Amino acid sequence: MPHAIDSTCPKQPVIKALFGGTFDPIHYGHLQPVETLAYQTGLNQVILLPNHVPPHRPQPEATAQQRLEMVQLAVQDSPLFTVDKRELERTIPSYTIDTLESFRQELGNKQPLAFIIGQDALLSLHTWHRWQELLSFCHLLVCARPGYQTQFSTTEMQQWLTKHQIYDPSQLGSKPNGYIYLADTPLLSISATDIRQRHQQGLSCDDLLPLSVQKYIDSQGLYRQ
Ligand code: ATP
Repeated sequence: MPHAIDSTCPKQPVIKALFGGTFDPIHYGHLQPVETLAYQTGLNQVILLPNHVPPHRPQPEATAQQRLEMVQLAVQDSPLFTVDKRELERTIPSYTIDTLESFRQELGNKQPLAFIIGQDALLSLHTWHRWQELLSFCHLLVCARPGYQTQFSTTEMQQWLTKHQIYDPSQLGSKPNGYIYLADTPLLSISATDIRQRHQQGLSCDDLLPLSVQKYIDSQGLYRQ
């Protein structure tokens, strides 16, 4: 006799995650750790958010449109990822906290929402605008990144991490926000800075980013000087 579907079986919670970056260009150091993280934590969707870089900061070499197109090309065949243009479409640059507020308005306050960062970003989180409020909007999922310390340099930040850190990712679906999970993701020594420099020097970047992005960079003549 075929098994009947057990209607008492608890439904897996839907967990969406946001992943912001300059993506100048997007590379495997962004994509591969996040794919592993999604598998480990049961993320259903990762929303890539190319940043609007404020005028007073060093500007990306590619335009906002080019960075967006590279992100779209990189994930066009992957159902895990979608791309959201809201930060690029704002006339004024927004902070991450503003973006989280905007997603919360859409999703409501009950659905689990996560924000993904690399270890380097975690270590400088205390410099982010209203960083203390981030966990009121989302969980933080942190991908390992080689070359960065695994501990904060201040006791205050280390205590903050200890207070919110969880070790069992299945807890992420149990509340909408407030946890920090440091994931055991592959260590990839890839940075956009290095890719831009390699292009300038005429070196191959084949193993560092998707072929579709590499072709786009070539066709647009990006990162040559
Ligand atoms: P750049 O070299 O221009 O500073 P980047 O390669 O660090 O760029 P960003 O777009 O600034 O890339 O990063 C977006 C997010 O991706 C950040 O949270 C960062 O920590 C994370 N990230 C980038 N590269 C890696 C990597 N190799 N491993 C893990 N996380 C990464």
